Amino acid sequence: MTKNTSKQDVRNLSYEELTQRLESMGEKSFRAQQIFEWIYQKGAVSFDVMTNLSNRLREGLKQEWDLSPPMIASKQVSKDGATKFLLDLEDHEKVETVLIPTANRTTVCVSTQAGCKFGCRFCASGLGGWTRNLTVAEILAQILHVKEEAKKRKKPLSHVVFMGTGENLDTYENLMKAIRIINSKEGLHIGARRITISTVGIIPKIKRLAQERIQVELAVSLHGYNDESRNKLMPVNKRYPFTDLIQACRDYIEETNRQITFEYILIQGLTCTEEAAQELAKHLKGMLCKMNLIPYNPVSEFDHNPPTESEMLAFKESLFQRGIHATLRTPRGQDVSAACGQLRHASK
Ligand code: SF4
Repeated sequence: MTKNTSKQDVRNLSYEELTQRLESMGEKSFRAQQIFEWIYQKGAVSFDVMTNLSNRLREGLKQEWDLSPPMIASKQVSKDGATKFLLDLEDHEKVETVLIPTANRTTVCVSTQAGCKFGCRFCASGLGGWTRNLTVAEILAQILHVKEEAKKRKKPLSHVVFMGTGENLDTYENLMKAIRIINSKEGLHIGARRITISTVGIIPKIKRLAQERIQVELAVSLHGYNDESRNKLMPVNKRYPFTDLIQACRDYIEETNRQITFEYILIQGLTCTEEAAQELAKHLKGMLCKMNLIPYNPVSEFDHNPPTESEMLAFKESLFQRGIHATLRTPRGQDVSAACGQLRHASK
């Protein structure tokens, strides 16, 4: 993303860190507010445009920090308006970011890692393995890029979902630092309830998140209805088994008083069966949760099929009859490989 490796990207700094750095340069602390406003509200990608700063300060900032826009390796626009960007990072790792417009919101789907080490057996992101965590600046640059794109469409960015490539809680510190900037009034000022963190189910990090006192939405990738079915699709289940994960989610809800969303992939004959609905209802009984049912988006390396529409509707109805609220996600951007990791994988 950045072109000059000798300089740190200013977007890696929290508001407090930037304030301290400016004060150590002999500047007034309100300069941090001005710089944050330029970057996060006005979309500045150069210090030169910050005209309410003195020339001397702008030169000083340029000497010390980088503020380059991300390099876009490709852009694909779906018939439904979903737009997928492949970002080319400084070390030429590629990450995907998706703009998802719907009638009443504009969402950016963000990646937090280059690749993924969890290897879920339905997901293109895990196919090439994991390379590294993204920096705070690389996370924020994705959002800032999509924010500008949304502005051009006159549909302002309203929601942020961490559901791109990578396991978000695996890069916990960078993720939380980015979220504080997204949420803060000096930064992007997007409400915590409009920010969703998805996780594959890293139990210790779910416990840690419960202590953060920030009202973000938590989405847990369940994708199985017991240990046996989850083991088939998610190697992480060996480390954090299904029943322990459900208990950790119950504890999270009790601690935060917040609802959890369970992401659940619908694969014909595997996860979309009557047995699965019965088991899920048994395990999730009485929980403050909802299910997000995701039709499998075919990836050629895996031998799965999506269910038929009537199979999916029957599954949803079966859950409903057992007291589980579920919504069926409308596939977005299928014509542009919008399933997680497909574009990045295709670029390798
Ligand atoms: S679903 Fe998430 S955790 Fe699993 S391989 Fe894909 S990116 Fe990684």
